[in-house]
Formats: sequence, C-alpha cells, structure tokens
Amino acid sequence: MNAMPAMPCPNCSETIALDPKALLAGKQIECGSCNTAIGLQESSANLVGDTLSKMDSVRQAIGKAR
Ligand SMILES: [Zn+2]
Repeated sequence: MNAMPAMPCPNCSETIALDPKALLAGKQIECGSCNTAIGLQESSANLVGDTLSKMDSVRQAIGKAR
C-alpha cells in the first residue's frame, strides 16, 4: 500500500497527512498541531484531478483485460 501523501504545515512545519480525494472534494485539512486549515488552490486541484482521472482510466482498462 502506498503511504498517504503528506506535507509540512506552512505555519508550524508539523507533518500533515493529506487525503487527495478530500482535497479534490474541496475540503480543507487542519493541522493537528496548530489547527491551520490548508486546501488545494484551484489550479492545483485541476492538475491533481486530471491525474486521478487518468489513473481511474488505467484501472478500468486493467479490469476489462481480465
Ligand atoms: Zn501547523
């Protein structure tokens, strides 16, 4: 299994685990240490969403090949 992506908090540098699907859904994630809310910028959301949709296409293609 892949580890959850993470990034340092912009406020306190504590590592924050990121849930890509939650971010893409427009949710903000709070730092557990200082409660700073972080979220995707719109331009980044488009980039990540495009990548995830391609990954979904790959998974579907794999399923059909069985
Ligand atoms: Zn923080």
